[in-house]
Amino acid sequence: MRLLHRTLLALLAPAALSAQTPLPLKHAPAPTSPEITAADLMTRLYIYSDDSLMGRRGGTEYNLRATAYIAAEARAMGLVPAGDSGTYFQNVPLMRETVDTSSTLVVAGATLRVFDDFLPRRLRGGPARSLDGAPVVFGGPVDGTDSLPADVGRGALVVLGPARAGPGGRVQLGGVLARFRDAAGIALTGLERVPPQFRNALRQPSLVMGGAQGTDSSALFLQITTAAAAELLGAPLDGARPGATGRSVQAHLTFLRESAPARNVVAVVPGSDRKLKGEYVAIGAHNDHLGFNTSPVDHDSLRIWNHIVRPEGADDGGKQATPAQQALADSLLAAYRAAHPGTSRKDSIDNGADDDGSGTVSVLEIAQRISSLRTRPRRSILFVWHTGEELGLLGSRWFTDHPTVPRDSIVAQLNIDMIGRGDADDEVGRTKDGTPIHGGPDYLQLVGSRRLSTELGDLVETVNREDHHGLVFDYSIDANGHPANIYCRSDHYSYARYGIPVVFFTTGIHSDYHQVTDEPEYIDYPHMARVASLIEDIALHVADLDHRVVVDQPKPDPNAACRQ
Ligand SMILES: [Zn+2]
Repeated sequence: MRLLHRTLLALLAPAALSAQTPLPLKHAPAPTSPEITAADLMTRLYIYSDDSLMGRRGGTEYNLRATAYIAAEARAMGLVPAGDSGTYFQNVPLMRETVDTSSTLVVAGATLRVFDDFLPRRLRGGPARSLDGAPVVFGGPVDGTDSLPADVGRGALVVLGPARAGPGGRVQLGGVLARFRDAAGIALTGLERVPPQFRNALRQPSLVMGGAQGTDSSALFLQITTAAAAELLGAPLDGARPGATGRSVQAHLTFLRESAPARNVVAVVPGSDRKLKGEYVAIGAHNDHLGFNTSPVDHDSLRIWNHIVRPEGADDGGKQATPAQQALADSLLAAYRAAHPGTSRKDSIDNGADDDGSGTVSVLEIAQRISSLRTRPRRSILFVWHTGEELGLLGSRWFTDHPTVPRDSIVAQLNIDMIGRGDADDEVGRTKDGTPIHGGPDYLQLVGSRRLSTELGDLVETVNREDHHGLVFDYSIDANGHPANIYCRSDHYSYARYGIPVVFFTTGIHSDYHQVTDEPEYIDYPHMARVASLIEDIALHVADLDHRVVVDQPKPDPNAACRQ
């Protein structure tokens, strides 16, 4: 699942936890069977989230290695390739973008240097708008821009001060970008407070979509020092009045781009009905995750700390420990160390066992099961493992814009992202009014299941009940206007925007979400097997209907921003 918003200065303190004894760190693989089993899922997930795959980030060789595993399994189970040119792969033209190290901003004769004084990043596809000659405007504190007139910042470089909420306050970057949609650039102050190791991470290349997509220009995003802000404004930041104009800027910025490897894996089990086999029920997951970093942290400390302070992991990225929480984390860590002497380990790889290793291996298990059926479903089943989800749903957007089967032949899409957790110990999300929700043995969140097709949403309930899957559905995350915005945060939305009915299945968020602690030893394999079996059953029911599931709700504009 992609992050709600980038937490700009999210600095993880040492970390925490667990009441239960986790599974072993390594697991010897065993041959998989055609059935969907906890043992098969475990075998697959220990392979797929192993450290050797280095976090599977889209645009890296590790994403290629991960997708090679999926394709090899698809071939072994006899799936029909449905990617580019008769292969299992659909290449997705990502670009790796870096800023040239000689780039400068010149203001009133003073030269601001890239990395020392400012750090530019493009956050959206398409070329960055030129800053050259742009006037500078002070937009006020980053979390207080609503009071300004709507047209402030048009064509300007908008300088934003630190959050009024203080350090550690969460910055809704999406909101800031939307607020200054017409700006040439948006500059957030406080770069000098970012510790060197994080500043290093911010210098890493961005991965953006190349090709025919993303030709609309967008505001350039910069992080700048407080001293640079004073140069730009021609006055100290303290005491600057929101809306005040500063100097104008001459920009000498060069971005360098190179192609970066990324690919979807696409395969089909052909349907058995002569007339209906040209229609598809799509089942998907995302094959990528976040990669790795160069600032190792103590694994158990981080895990215990997050569990107490940030129960929703990166979604709680701005939360700091209260003294009582810190004391609790310290005592739990001491107890853990005493019970596990000599096991301290550093960790720097985002393994993404749940996100979305769980979905990826579940789709493999579902494919293996369906391909082994003596009686195949009437419609075909289309399996797509998307790349670049964590980079902004890039692979699914590419697939649905450039589908390898006719787009109108996809009757529904069932998306699986993070189905390996969701027990009572996990805070799986909050209701729209902010009440924490915990999972349980039968817990499953459904998102979007009636947003296009009431019939599809009803069918999911019927299959769960009549075929005795016994899962308990939580729809609270799917509320209109829910601040977590989950409906817009995974690959199903790329399909839904074209009016294809979707169901998003997830066991929800947890304290290891987007952390190096999202590892296979913390996964609930029996729970995951039940969810995967339900989804397989639903796919077969949709595939065998004598009609396409009926779309009875309004279709969105495929190019508009997603709204939950
Ligand atoms: Zn994610």
